[in-house]
Amino acid sequence: MGNPERMTIHRQGNAVRSPADIATAPFWVEMLLEGAADGENTAMRASLDPGTITRWHTHPRGQLLYVLSGKGLAQREDGAVEELRAGDAVWFAAGEKHWHGATPDSAFSYISVQATEAGRIVDWLEQVEVLS
Ligand code: MN
Repeated sequence: MGNPERMTIHRQGNAVRSPADIATAPFWVEMLLEGAADGENTAMRASLDPGTITRWHTHPRGQLLYVLSGKGLAQREDGAVEELRAGDAVWFAAGEKHWHGATPDSAFSYISVQATEAGRIVDWLEQVEVLS
């Protein structure tokens, strides 16, 4: 499919449930832009229930995450767990192992943008150990 060849308005709606095994619970994902060729961007809006966090993962060309609402958490490998609030923007570098998700007491929504490489935008890894 790939990025549209002309101006395209995506109206709100059409969210789908994420695959069950990429996070501690399914979450809502609304595709905003779908890249296909190398370097084309894919963008989505994600909405997570309180306490839902992703598995560890990497993005082949990195990821920009922009927080829309709620409170979130993010961590890169060997880094501290960081709290995210509405308006924060986070860059995860290409191949940087990380996870992100909602705090236990708050829903969390964000927009993420990640470029495609060899048809992939993400590589999923192991589950995050229970946060203490
Ligand atoms: Mn990510």
